Formats: sequence, C-alpha cells, structure tokens
Amino acid sequence: MEYISTRGNVGKIGFIDAFLMGLADDGGLLVPNEIPAVSAEKLKQWQNLSYQELVLEIFSLYTNDEIPQEDLKQLVNDSYATFRDPQVTPVRKLKDGLFLLELFHGPTFAFKDIALQFMGQLYTYVSKKLNKKIHILGATSGDTGASAIQGVRGKEGIKICILHPNGKVSKVQELQMTTVQDENVLNLSVEGNFDDCQRIIKDLFADLDFKSNNHLCAINSINFVRIMAQTVYYFYSYFQVVKETGVEQPLNFSVPTGNFGDIFAGYLAKRMGLPVNKLILATNENNILERFIHEGVYKPGDFRTTYSPSMDIQVASNFERYLYYVLGEDAAQIRELMDSFKRNGEIVIGGEALALVQAEFAAHGVQGQECLDTITKYKAETGYLLDPHSACGVSATEVRSGQGEVTVSLATAHPAKFNEAIELCGIEQEFPEQIASLFNKPQRQTMVDGSQEEIVRELVKFYNA
Ligand SMILES: *Cc1c(COP(=O)(O)O)cnc(C)c1O
Repeated sequence: MEYISTRGNVGKIGFIDAFLMGLADDGGLLVPNEIPAVSAEKLKQWQNLSYQELVLEIFSLYTNDEIPQEDLKQLVNDSYATFRDPQVTPVRKLKDGLFLLELFHGPTFAFKDIALQFMGQLYTYVSKKLNKKIHILGATSGDTGASAIQGVRGKEGIKICILHPNGKVSKVQELQMTTVQDENVLNLSVEGNFDDCQRIIKDLFADLDFKSNNHLCAINSINFVRIMAQTVYYFYSYFQVVKETGVEQPLNFSVPTGNFGDIFAGYLAKRMGLPVNKLILATNENNILERFIHEGVYKPGDFRTTYSPSMDIQVASNFERYLYYVLGEDAAQIRELMDSFKRNGEIVIGGEALALVQAEFAAHGVQGQECLDTITKYKAETGYLLDPHSACGVSATEVRSGQGEVTVSLATAHPAKFNEAIELCGIEQEFPEQIASLFNKPQRQTMVDGSQEEIVRELVKFYNA
C-alpha cells in the first residue's frame, strides 16, 4: 500500500510518511494508491470481532507492515482504553428502521476521539522510534482541538498548537481546550471563524520550508489517518445492526457533516466493500455540501453561526478526496478544478459525474428550529437526548423515510458539550462529572487577530521555547 496525492505531484510514499506529511506537499490530499478490497467472505469473518480487533484488521490493510503487529496492537489497545463503553462505539435502536451509532464515549465526548486518541499514540510512538520532534498544528471548530490536546498533553517530544475561532465554540468545548495546563499545549483564540483558522493553517502547511523548519504535523482530517480510523465504526455498526435486525441488507448512514471527513470515511468503507445504500449528508444552515449534492455546484456561501458549531464550516477541506474519486482518479483534472476554485470561488460538475454523486448521496440542510424541534421530539417520544449535531443527522434521515430502508445515524457528540442548544429546548440535563469539573479550572489561551503574521510569531515563539 502506498500513498499518492489527489493532485498527482507527490511520489508514492509509505504509511508513516503519509501520516507525517498530513497535507500533501503539492497542496492536495493524500489517498491510498489503491483502495483495499474487503470480500464478502472477509466481512463474515469480521462480524464477531471486538471493536479493537476490527481496528487491527482494518488498519493492517493500510499500514503496510511499517509498524510491527505487536506494536500496532498495543497502540490500538492504549488508544481505546480510555473509552467509557466496552464496545467503544455502541449502537442503539431509536425506532424501527433507525439506529443511532454513539461515537461520543471517548475522553472528550465527541467522535473526534476515535481517530485522535489513536493519532496521539501514533505521534508519540513515531517521535520515540525516529527520535523526531513533532509539532502538531491544527484548526478546530471545537471538538478536534479538545481531542487532539487530550491525546498528546504532557507527551515528551511533542508540542501542540490549536487555533479556534474566538467565541464561536461552545463553552464546554472552550473549557476542554483551555483548562489544560501542560506546557506542551498552546491555544490560540483567533478573531474570525473556523474557515479563517483552517485557511491559515493550510497556508502554513503549504509553505514547505516553514513546515519542515518547524516540524509541523497535522491532526485535521486533511490527515489520511483520521479517515482510516473512522472507517472502522461503519463496519462495526453494520455488524451490530445486522445482528439486531437479522437481515443482511445494505444500510443507509446519515452523517452530520462539516469538513466532509466523517462522511468521506463512510464513502471509503463503501468502496472497500461494506454494503452501504445511501450516504445521507446532513448539514446545518452552512449547507454548501447539500447544494453540491443537489445541484453540482460547490460554492461557499455566507458563514452562519448555528446551534451545531462543530459543523459551521463553508470550505470543506476533505471534499477534494471525494472529488478525486468521483471524477475517476484524474489528478490533472483535480489540479485544474482546485486552481479554478482558488480563482473563481466555485466548482461545478454535471452530467455523469453529478448522476453518480446523486446515486451515492442524499442530503438535507437542517435549519435552526428544525434542529431544536428534533431534539425536543426525540426526548419526548423516546427519552433519548440528542446533541444538536446528532439531531441534524437524525432529522436528515427523514429524506429517506417511507422507503423501508434501515438507517444508521451517527451520534457525533454528547449533549453536555452543547448545553446552549439543549437549554433552548427547555430541557435540563445533568453533566457528566468530567464536564462539570471543567467549570472551576483556570483557563490558558492567547488571543490573536486573524493575521497570519501574528499567528506565525506566536507559533515560532512556542515551538522554539
Ligand atoms: C467535527 C464534527 C462534525 C463534522 O465532522 P466532519 O468530519 O468535519 O464532517 C460533526 N459533529 C461533531 C460533533 C463534530 O465535532
């Protein structure tokens, strides 16, 4: 297994190099040169594996034997040892034909933990093995930052800097990041929105001298390892649902989407051989991706602040990976499209490619009140309290209702992280102890304006200290 860039100008590289490169050196995104195929027979063999055993099987398809099996096993076990549910990602039946895949049982109560706790272990491993300085740089709409910090806080040889949009993350998200006191953690609170943060770090990663001089590594879903780790729960939940329903049939997956990372992992699982019917793309009012699926036009609109802040994203950096596949893995065409996107601010596809998109995806942009109504309705009807992101996913499943299909909706966060929205529904919730205790801790963060110069200054100071 080797890795190549969606823009075609990175030679074939191995797994560890792809992990360390993050953003491809030609500005594209790294993808495996061939998607590993999982046969029906293999699926059968996997159906009773524990979550950790399944992780090991799937990762082994991608890691190229670059990590000895015993080491990989240890890394995987350590990564999921901090999860509060023995199944790691349990499935709950919400009603007939609708299952919820709970992805929030990790240390920071959102699905980002599933990939990032592993990446934290892997960075630590690689840093020791190769005696390498690792300086993690990431942008967050709230959850990635908290999870990545948790994964590497206090680890020798590693420093982590996270940019978050000032005042645009939830209170709990902010506290989870800024109450960490370890010296190897820097939080930059940026005047601007998530797209500004993401653009700044993408520009810094694209400056190859700056990147190598400062040992920069990525934890955003531009890093392929994030995607790889997230394919696992699509397989795992499929096995659980088949057991529960007694019917082996392709499932729909409804995915609350921001950067197109999680849903791309679902697409990859499907391409590997998982029986998937429709991928339902759920967005909030920042609905660039919904418009792409319905019209073939990818064009950022005005940024909106919503009840589901982790999905307040207009420019979905992972979208390029999907575009690469849907356009027949034609790197030259991706180069052209991304160039023209930079110049004209839009990408338009039509004809066969759009037909293919619409065969694979359904989409729904959930409006604010609709999100709150979904939370209220499910609490009243089933007793289950959805967080506002998971509510977008559940709400979007309705585009396929009445078709007799079975849908798994991804629950991407615990409601305690987003009490702002829950309160608006007139619901009082009890915080888990780990979250309640955050409110008494002192915060550490540095405020910066949105200029690249100021951010570079803070970064260099931190990395060289
Ligand atoms: C990050 C996040 C999303 C969006 O995931 P993408 O991979 O960016 O599409 C959805 N819900 C929650 C709670 C998140 O933290």
